[in-house]
Amino acid sequence: MTRLTITDHSRIFAKYTYVYPVVSRRAQGVSLGINLNTNNACNWRCIYCQVEGLVRGKPNDVDPVRIEAELDEMLNWIINGDFIKKYAPKNLARFNDISLSGNGEPTLSPQFTQVIQIIAKLRLKYNLGNNIKTILITNGSEIDKPQVIDGLKLMSQNNGETWFKIDSVTEAGITATNQVSLSIDSIKKRLILASSLCKTYVQTCLFKLRNKNPAAYEIDEYIKFIVDVKPYIAGVLMYSTARHPALPEGDNVSSVSEEFLANVAKILEEHQIIVKYYV
Ligand code: SF4
Repeated sequence: MTRLTITDHSRIFAKYTYVYPVVSRRAQGVSLGINLNTNNACNWRCIYCQVEGLVRGKPNDVDPVRIEAELDEMLNWIINGDFIKKYAPKNLARFNDISLSGNGEPTLSPQFTQVIQIIAKLRLKYNLGNNIKTILITNGSEIDKPQVIDGLKLMSQNNGETWFKIDSVTEAGITATNQVSLSIDSIKKRLILASSLCKTYVQTCLFKLRNKNPAAYEIDEYIKFIVDVKPYIAGVLMYSTARHPALPEGDNVSSVSEEFLANVAKILEEHQIIVKYYV
């Protein structure tokens, strides 16, 4: 095994099925991911998606006993062993979070809440306290389902953060980017619900399509929306595509410049909105 890098997000680490460590730009350290979508199934098909072999659909049932065993072993290695020293680059040698983020939308898993219960149990066992976060990276589509609501309530008691994907707030933009049909009103309702259950950030991927930056109109609408939901959110996490998209429709997708993200961030910051961004 070699040191983890920000471009090596392999879901397969050692002998694990569900748990995978990554060094993440977002985390600025080691993030322990749990992949509940081992069949690469998602209800969305974002054109920048980096999941190889993505299919539309739902994840299969997961094996909670195995998830607990894998997470327990990895946490023991990170907290009590030499994992970080051995595998993390020196500038990112810290453990940041356990994150539900896999090869598809995690909240589609029938065992979503059960897995958060496992995380809560192991957080207690390893005394993770307030230093290590529990992060859900979600497209937000299932937030109003009863079992997801239960899961988010439990996350909030476990230093939880929900990163709620909103890449566009125009119906045409959502259809073009996420390849789903959604009303802006329904997204706003689910975002407000998410934030009432657990600390919530809006997570946004901005990218070039056929070498063109997002249209000014798209960005104006996005800023208006974020300013409107400001009372509900902890902030905005903006990024651009770091690796080559895996889907054929992603062939024309490329990264915006850091300057582009900085300009959008600056406008939001003028509205006292907390923004983190990275290309
Ligand atoms: S929601 Fe996530 S996993 Fe699903 S298609 Fe979009 S980027 Fe890929």
